[in-house]
Amino acid sequence: MADYKVAILGAGFGGLGMAARLKERGEDSFVILEKADRIGGTWRDNTYPGSGCDVPSHLYSYSFETNPGWTRKYSLQPEIQAYMERVAGKRGLGPHIRFHAEVESARWDDADGLWRIALAGGETLTAENFVAAWGQLNRPAWPTIEGAGDFGGPSFHSARWDHSVDLAGKRVAVIGCGASALQFIPRIAPEVGTLTVFQRTPNWVVPRGDRGYHPLERLLFKVAPWVLGGSRAFKYWIKEYGWKAFEPGSKMSEKFRQGALAYLEAHVKDPVLRAKLTPDYPIGCKRILVADDFYQALVRPNVEVVADPIAHIEADAVVTADGTRREADVLIYATGFETNSFMGVHEVTGRNGLTLSEAWADGAHAYLGVTVAGFPNFFMLYGPNTNLGHNSIIFMLERQIDYVLQAMALVKAKGARALDVRADAMARFNEELQRDLKGTAFAAGCASWYKTADGRITNNWSGPTTAYRRATARVNLDDYALIPL
Ligand code: NAP
Repeated sequence: MADYKVAILGAGFGGLGMAARLKERGEDSFVILEKADRIGGTWRDNTYPGSGCDVPSHLYSYSFETNPGWTRKYSLQPEIQAYMERVAGKRGLGPHIRFHAEVESARWDDADGLWRIALAGGETLTAENFVAAWGQLNRPAWPTIEGAGDFGGPSFHSARWDHSVDLAGKRVAVIGCGASALQFIPRIAPEVGTLTVFQRTPNWVVPRGDRGYHPLERLLFKVAPWVLGGSRAFKYWIKEYGWKAFEPGSKMSEKFRQGALAYLEAHVKDPVLRAKLTPDYPIGCKRILVADDFYQALVRPNVEVVADPIAHIEADAVVTADGTRREADVLIYATGFETNSFMGVHEVTGRNGLTLSEAWADGAHAYLGVTVAGFPNFFMLYGPNTNLGHNSIIFMLERQIDYVLQAMALVKAKGARALDVRADAMARFNEELQRDLKGTAFAAGCASWYKTADGRITNNWSGPTTAYRRATARVNLDDYALIPL
């Protein structure tokens, strides 16, 4: 008999949501294995100044734990972290979480029909089901730039912000100009001496329209939950409608493009800087960035945007290909995450010794982003091809959690031990998915963290979230093999 019915890897939005729903169903035999000393996942890790979510908070929260108290339309990291901790406490998840529990490997034991999960330190535990909620944005990507190790001052990654480094009055260089940089640049620009932003590729940026909620509004959301529900539904459908912007050539795509260009023109008067900041690829190919203060920060007199490629780094400078040295006291890497492996350091082994890395030699793929052929009772949350460019990931996570609960219930109802998705069903699903993705902006000509070096889109879902909801609404047992007791 297994130690647990369910072992969940990771205490981020996915893992906590899974645990909350298990608990709701009266299931107590589960454990959350968390390598850190605190819950929160990416929201625990990303504490850079201005860190927050560009999806409205009324929508970027669980449907089963809506929060009338969000103080802003777009909340910052401390408030999101506090929300997650509150939900974990309220739902009684604390006793189920094991901190400092780093999973080193997980192996399906065919003879006993369970997962054997090995933790760093030598302990092994067993579970009937293994839910991997390790996320897509948890391993910082460090670029390989010649001389990076020679830099003499402090340097750190945006996802591991070093708060002990005082930036006041310093010459700060930032490498990378994506979603994270866009949030912290406006915060640090007024305080630093000079800020040099090394941008490899410009992004499409649209205004956010952020504002604080008045206490009376929050009171209204509290006493009249249907108003909060209405706000959430409104935001969901507006975003869903925005999917059209990801269909190249559509009117909506053109509307977004024109809106972003007009926003750039309104805030950046210098034609040279504007040219640097104007993308030359279709909107939506990379993540569309959402900000109210980014361009305003870039036009400050102490900020320079460098679009020339970096050649190498020296002890006190970043040198571009044209030979220009830009001196710096502090170097910040805002270079994103390793997003394509979906694995990190964990080695997961399914039936007949097949590992996930072998199964994914040509790129990570799954069935509905949740199950993988050859890996019985293994479920992924925010797995391959479940990321979005237009709506809330929490919506996707909740569809996956519902699906996993349904799958577990079916195994029980059928008197089986496990289910394993059929290889042909998974292949068919991925053929259709990749075909559909070809018609989206994600496939347009740009490099992004959504795809592998050879262009296979491993991270994003191919359509509106309503299509994902339909696809995951019911577990179709025809697509699965049941493993008997
Ligand atoms: P990112 O968007 O992937 O940006 C990384 C930046 O680093 C890009 O500008 C990239 O340039 C640059 N870069 C990477 N390697 C480089 C190199 N060797 N030399 C020069 N530049 C290099 O990473 P991120 O900003 O951390 O954001 C990642 C994702 O996290 C986002 O897309 C989003 O999904 C999520 N996020 C969400 C929020 C939110 O509000 N919801 C906030 C922050 C992050 P290229 O573009 O040329 O590759």
